[in-house]
Amino acid sequence: MVVVQAGKKQSAQRVKHVPQRTCIACRRTDAKRGLIRLVRTPEGQVVADPTGKSHGRGAYLCHNLACWEQAIKRQVLQRALRTEPLSAENQRDLLLYIQGLAVVDVLPLQPDAANNDAPPLDVFGDDA
Ligand SMILES: [Zn+2]
Repeated sequence: MVVVQAGKKQSAQRVKHVPQRTCIACRRTDAKRGLIRLVRTPEGQVVADPTGKSHGRGAYLCHNLACWEQAIKRQVLQRALRTEPLSAENQRDLLLYIQGLAVVDVLPLQPDAANNDAPPLDVFGDDA
């Protein structure tokens, strides 16, 4: 009885609606948190909106530098946001932003670092 009830609860949570967004460069869809929102400011600048809460027209790009470069250089981003061509300064700021994020994202995926840093389970056994 208890097991059945727990199972019911879990499946109910999994059905919860997760909004899907599409990267404007590669068209990959992902849950909202997997993509970075960009918004057009009243001044005509395009800025990243990591909180996803800024008002205004938004577009989404995934955590992939190539997508950001493509969206900026092929004017995909400005068309999606219906704005003027981005200034060189604005383009540079956006690329610096994703470059910073990409480095953070890639580091934990290096298998060598993970192996070296992973403490052996024995350490915890000795303490207990
Ligand atoms: Zn993409």
